Amino acid sequence: METSPMQHAFERTPLWQALAARDDDPHSAQREVLRAAYLQFRKTVEPLASEIAMSMPMFTDHSIAHIDALWDTASMICGANVPVNPAEAFVLGGAFLLHDLGMGLVAYPLGEAALESDPQYPDLLAGNQARLAAVSPSIQQEELLRVAREQTIVELLRLRHASQAERLVSTQFRAPDGGHLYLLQDMALRHHFGALIGRIAASHWWEVDDLRCFEHKQGSCADHPADWDVDPLKLACILRLADVAQIDQRRAPVYLRVFRGVSGASEHHWRFQERLTRPLVVGDRLEYTATRPFRLEDVESWWLACEMVKDIDGELRKVDALCADLRRNRFAVRSVAGADSPERLAVYLRTDGWRPIDATLRVSDVNRLVATLGGHDLYGNRPDVALRELVANAADAMRARAIVEDRPTGTVTVRLSEDQGQWWLEVEDTGVGMDSTTMVRALTDFGYSRWRSDAASQQYPGLLSKGFQPIGRFGIGFFAVFMVADDVQVTSLSHEDAPRSTHVLEFSGGLSSRPLLREADQSERLRRPGTRVRARLRDDPRSEKGLFRTSSRRLQHTRLFHSLVRRTCALVDVNVDVQGPADPAPRRVVTANDWTSISASELFTRIYPRDEADYYGRRHFDAFETLFVERAQDVLDDEGRVVGRAMIASGWEPVDEEVRRWLQPEAQVYVGGLLAGTLDWCMGAFVGMPLTADRLKAFPSASPEVLRGWVENQAELARRNPIGDHGHLAFTGTVARGLGAEALGLPCAESLDGPLDVANLAKWLADRDEIFIANPHFHIFDRGAGTRRFFSFGGTEVLIDQHCLITNLYSLWLYPEEILSHPRVETLADAVEPEDGVWHAPSWWYDNGAFGSIALVVRTIRTSWNMTLDQVLDGMEPMYAEPNIDRRPELPTAEGGTFRMNMIRLRRLAEVRS
Ligand code: ADP
Repeated sequence: METSPMQHAFERTPLWQALAARDDDPHSAQREVLRAAYLQFRKTVEPLASEIAMSMPMFTDHSIAHIDALWDTASMICGANVPVNPAEAFVLGGAFLLHDLGMGLVAYPLGEAALESDPQYPDLLAGNQARLAAVSPSIQQEELLRVAREQTIVELLRLRHASQAERLVSTQFRAPDGGHLYLLQDMALRHHFGALIGRIAASHWWEVDDLRCFEHKQGSCADHPADWDVDPLKLACILRLADVAQIDQRRAPVYLRVFRGVSGASEHHWRFQERLTRPLVVGDRLEYTATRPFRLEDVESWWLACEMVKDIDGELRKVDALCADLRRNRFAVRSVAGADSPERLAVYLRTDGWRPIDATLRVSDVNRLVATLGGHDLYGNRPDVALRELVANAADAMRARAIVEDRPTGTVTVRLSEDQGQWWLEVEDTGVGMDSTTMVRALTDFGYSRWRSDAASQQYPGLLSKGFQPIGRFGIGFFAVFMVADDVQVTSLSHEDAPRSTHVLEFSGGLSSRPLLREADQSERLRRPGTRVRARLRDDPRSEKGLFRTSSRRLQHTRLFHSLVRRTCALVDVNVDVQGPADPAPRRVVTANDWTSISASELFTRIYPRDEADYYGRRHFDAFETLFVERAQDVLDDEGRVVGRAMIASGWEPVDEEVRRWLQPEAQVYVGGLLAGTLDWCMGAFVGMPLTADRLKAFPSASPEVLRGWVENQAELARRNPIGDHGHLAFTGTVARGLGAEALGLPCAESLDGPLDVANLAKWLADRDEIFIANPHFHIFDRGAGTRRFFSFGGTEVLIDQHCLITNLYSLWLYPEEILSHPRVETLADAVEPEDGVWHAPSWWYDNGAFGSIALVVRTIRTSWNMTLDQVLDGMEPMYAEPNIDRRPELPTAEGGTFRMNMIRLRRLAEVRS
């Protein structure tokens, strides 16, 4: 018998022996054909495999050396208990050859273009761009796009490689001589085994459970002995175990995290693989050992090794369980030594100079965490948030469907009903709905937001790149429902399914009990796709802890419900229908996006709870409504879209004489059309962005320039058409400047003669050489020129003199610092405040000089008195109560006494005067 000399190391492995030439072989011809076909197959694949290194240079070895080594690892895992016949060895070898080949661009005859036309490409690209921009904000646009494209291609190669492997057997490649060739050239074998090889190769990327589809054997080839049949399940198991277990120097499997922008992750791979030896089989376990201990600088590599060991162990156990379930022969190796704890792994992968302890973040009581974080402790005492979050989810699902199916957004219906003393809240949408798997995943996994998940980008390619911006971002909103209810029923039908696929997910007993998933019975089936959430409210919505959080004893449920829904959803881009207990049918309370076109009065009524207020409160709202109709102006963004309809409200507006009540004016700020926060000193509605994950704080999303433009208009309106007394104008100026405007027409200071705007202040300064600046710690009564009276907050009437200028040294800044920090005078950034100084002009000016009324006052002093900034700051003399001496000037009081207060004296420079 002729034996060919052994060329390759793998020919010595036990598994290969099925194909090796042997003495007295009755089937030597068939064996010879298989062996030759495999060696040809391998030879054709070899150059393609080395190309993977070019498409993915950051990956560890995927070359033919890795493939060859699989024979060895696989033999180790199979042991004597899992034999293979020659046909199986051939199929297994084929799957070895193909399994990672799709990872190289050469596996795609159309190259990158094939990947760029992948439906997932735009979303992955958009995601990568956003991620890159977030981690390196200063990156150039072109560079960003280049890197993002590269990452996207790599990511797609990884995502597609398994399914591409399946196609490779039947793909024709162009040969160097211009002809075409198949990777496996033997036509008969290709026809008989090609498809199976492809599927087994692809399966290494599936879940273990999905291997059950390989349960049936494939019969033998006509010219093979009958017992050369092929067990694909066994081969699929061998392939995935060999592939995952092989992390020694020869190569590492590819792991997801390599793509997650963990810089240097590939390097850690290389580092630990370098020192890992071929695993040992001890009993039924694999033991990985290292040639050298891991020192402090190798900590990251060690932990990566630890994770891999856990992954391998998990895979071995899952496959073992599958084999046991299906009563198959078990593999010789079933777990990995040390996988159960880092401390024990260190026995095998030794460390030097440090000790691994399992200090990963852990949550011991997940239910409790979710119950507190997801509900009351996250949102505070705000049961209305439960309603808002359900509508937010509904709106997201409807927006997604509008994009996917290119249709209008549709209608969400919100119902409140009473049934035998129990109150039910129901939110029903016509969105994309959820199939049962999605529903369980999305609604029982705290922190899982489906819209940004891989699953969603696969199911709805292009969603994100077409501008879908879900309100929900953190996967926590749904849990808010448990603030108001213990029993919650979610019924959903995916827009891709027929009504009989409707499923119900039931929570009874809140978060502490297990939810139950079942098929909807006939009567529960949804006729249209979408989702219906029904929650049994713990409390009567009108009670103290109830949904309405109202103290109104006048209004009944239906009106309160309408008012709450209207206000909560005022700016939303879907239709909202409401049905309260007294409504025979749902009524439309918000039409998608109508807030920009309804009358000012209707908008006001929609967003403020006027009806719920008591008698004086209602009169208060009515007075403001009249002002709002006169004064509200649109905030238009750069594209001309309305992003706000509001007015500045100083709180000094003349409201009904009888209404002796002051309410903090506040505008409502909406995120995704739903109420999220308020903005003081304005009234009306703004489109906003959330400041916190709970969306209880938000700020207008208009750019500072856009907002400033609107504020200047408001200031001008107040100047031209003043209302109330001087206080309104003065405080409107303060508010306007707190939002970054100058509001030159409005007062920036007060004097005995009256309020001073910049022009009047210049005149006032012209007659004076010395002034005293004081903070406005006064009530000012103003009955026209010459009749101003100033009362201290303690009630003393102080006789202010001619040289006194009252203005705020510390101005109001209305932007949250995290959005736009207050401007500073950067030229003074180095100013150092002395330890014992009472007041230090440069330090004060650094923080306060770049905005507010004081900026205008000092600017006017400089121009009127022709002084430099340094001269003004140098000249400012604080007359404060200091530890050992009271420098405050004494002002006469109307009662003949004296009153001391902090002031700053400033004199015009003598030489400049002349
Ligand atoms: P988030 O706050 O991120 O929206 P949730 O806990 O509210 O998180 O919801 C989790 C996921 O469940 C959402 O990302 C969404 O995909 C899905 N989901 C929730 N409600 C609906 C619904 N009415 N229709 C379709 N999908 C929904």
